[in-house]
Formats: sequence, C-alpha cells, structure tokens
Amino acid sequence: MVVYSAFLILAMIDEYRFTVKERFLRYVQVDTQSDPLSTTIPSTEKQKDLGRILTEELRQAGIDDAHLDGWGYVYATIPSNSSKNIPVICFCAHMDTAPDSSGTGVKPIVHTNYNGQDIILPDDPTQVITIREHPYLKQKIGEEIITASGNTLLGADDKAGVAIIMDFVNYLMQNPGVKHGKIKILFTPDEEIGRGVNKVDLQKLGADFAYTLDGGERGSFTDETFSADGVVITFHGISAHPGFGKNKLVNALKVAGTFLDLLPRNEFSPETTEDREGFVHPVRAEGIAEKVKVEFIVRDFETRNLKLYETRLEQFAKQAVGKYPGTSYEFEIKQQYRNMKEVLKNYPRVEKYAREAMERAGVRFKKESARGGTDGSRLCFMGLPCPDIFTGEMAFHGKHEYVSVQDMQKSVEVLVNLVQVCQEKAGHDL
Ligand SMILES: [Zn+2]
Repeated sequence: MVVYSAFLILAMIDEYRFTVKERFLRYVQVDTQSDPLSTTIPSTEKQKDLGRILTEELRQAGIDDAHLDGWGYVYATIPSNSSKNIPVICFCAHMDTAPDSSGTGVKPIVHTNYNGQDIILPDDPTQVITIREHPYLKQKIGEEIITASGNTLLGADDKAGVAIIMDFVNYLMQNPGVKHGKIKILFTPDEEIGRGVNKVDLQKLGADFAYTLDGGERGSFTDETFSADGVVITFHGISAHPGFGKNKLVNALKVAGTFLDLLPRNEFSPETTEDREGFVHPVRAEGIAEKVKVEFIVRDFETRNLKLYETRLEQFAKQAVGKYPGTSYEFEIKQQYRNMKEVLKNYPRVEKYAREAMERAGVRFKKESARGGTDGSRLCFMGLPCPDIFTGEMAFHGKHEYVSVQDMQKSVEVLVNLVQVCQEKAGHDL
C-alpha cells in the first residue's frame, strides 16, 4: 500500500507543471536586504514588500488565514485532509537577503542547458563563475542554472527556499488527493542579521516540528550547527598625562596587543581549522590607553569544548596582564546559540521522514554539519525541532551566487513526499 501510493505520487509529480522557477525569478527582483545597523523590526521596511506578495499569493491559492504580521512574519495554515492524528509540520524560509552584497536591482539570468563553461556575468565581466571555484557546478551540466547579472547578489539564499515552499503549497492545493496532516508555513525577516526568530510566535505556529528550506547541494540535510559563545575581554591600564607618565602610565592598548600576539598562529583560529574543528576568533577591538575591549566569538560542535577554549583564552589574557604590572582584565562570556543536534537527537522521526522523502524522490540523503548557526538552531532550543533541507542555493552572499532549477524542483518533490510520509506513519512511531 505504501509502495503503491509512492508510485502514484511519482506519476503525479511527473505531470506537474512546477511554478518554482517562475516564482523564484519574480521574488529575487524584490529587494529585501536586511540591515544589521537598524534597530527597527523588521530591520528594513522593504522586506514586507515580499511578505505582502507572498500573503496575497497564498490567499489566492486558497489559504484563507495567510497573513503578514506587524513584525514582518508571514504565517499560513494548510488544514489537514486526513482523518488520522498527524503531527503538525512547519516549513520555514527567510525572506531577507544578506547585507554583504547589494540586493537592489537584481537581474536574474537563466542559463538553459548549462554546458560547464565559465559563466561571465554581463553587467560586470570581471565576475566569472567557474567550475574550478564552484565544483558543484560540474554536477549541474545539462541543468538550468540561474545567476545574477554581476552587480548584485542573486538572493537564492533564501528565495530559493521561499519559492520551493510556495510551489509546494501550490502543488498541494491543486492535488487534494494527496493526504497530509496540518501544515504550517512560516516566512521570516532578518535571518541574515541573526534576528530571524526574535519575534516568531511559536504558540500561534503550533507546530510539532519544522524544517527550514535554506540548504545547499541536492540531498543535503543539516541537523548539526556550531555551539557558540561570545567573549568580551576588557583590559584596564593606568592612565596618566603622557608628558608626566614615567613609571606611572601603563597603556591598555599595548596589553591588548600583547594579548592578541599570544594567540597561536597555526591552530585555534578560523583561518587554520575546518570540518569538525572549532576555533576562537577576535571580531572587534576598541579602546584607548586607559581601557580596551576585545570581542571574540568561540565556536565548536561540542558545547563542552567552548569552556576549554574560553579557559585557554583567559590564560592568554592573564599572561598579557602579567607582563604589565598594575593592569587588570575582565572576562565576560555570553551564550549565543547551541548545536541543534542536542535537541534533534531526541526527535529521530524528524530526520527519518526527511530521509525517506528524499529516497522516494531518488535523492541521495547527505547529512551535513553547518560551520555556523541557523534560525533552526535557535528554534530547536525554543522548543521547535528544526533541521534544514536543501534548496540548491550555492555560493551565497556574493555576486557568484547561483541555483539550479532542477534542484529547486527536487526540493519541492521532497516536501510533497515528506508530508505524505508523515501521514502514512502517523500513529506508528509517535
Ligand atoms: Zn539563508
């Protein structure tokens, strides 16, 4: 019975006219860049432009409760069409684009039947996308690739995710024979500046678990992120008039310089680590002779390692201060986010369903660890288990960003499968 329905859906999705490409091309032309320096919510009002478009399209698709709230979040519900008691799944993507590169006047270019040759972006021919720099493109030969035109980012991060979810909704609304439980759609602002879930209303959402659509290569499934702390070290010197500073003045800038110089050069840093290795990283320093503040980020997949790194960092501070009698330091640790795996390991079905959905779509399931954080890592610790599923978006945050239309379509198919897997298994392994 299960096999039969899987076949049935394959046949249906084969005949389906995907809307993901057309949607993607439209959504990327709406400027939704977020702004880390802004204090408003959302950080830029223009993010609501896309929010309004999505709300309107969801309503037109027949989802009556679709709405954009005052904080710039879009919520929508697809009611269950099954008599079974099925967990509520949420699919989530962010509407904003990264502040790293311009998002104004994005002109998407479709490269049909990509042949593996260098892609020269017409508006700035010095911008060339090559297989050498982007090896994943080698697997995309023969597919349809979308890039920006050279002056801006593309915004596939995360409008690929937004377009995939919208096409998935479209599919379900057109194919009421596909059985599923209640589904929640969530589009968030300000993910790129780390505020994507600040104002999310989990009660209103009412989901049992969620998936962000914000991953890269086809088949990738991210259920692990860094654990992260911030550290602020303040060095206190002794100020005195420099004209009369002899044997009195101790310059905190020099203490901080000595401290930074003590950091190892061939380990312990982002420039010298990869894969599962963690690091500490000075991100900002400011001060005067009297007082200097140095800010660090501390990262590792194992939360317990953060403490070890922080102890080591503090040793360097102590050593530096030891070289300058009369100076002192303060050492302050701020928890930032935690590895989502610590939560997800308690919800094995969240991965199981995604794995089966990918297998049914003929996609090789590939588990990934993100050397960073996601909105999902915070949602996990707010009580909503939330790993990440691929969208095909690649080389994000820059002008070389690209996405394959076929990858986006596969992702839509995976979501369609996923809600059915969940419906089929309901009551079996709760
Ligand atoms: Zn993203």
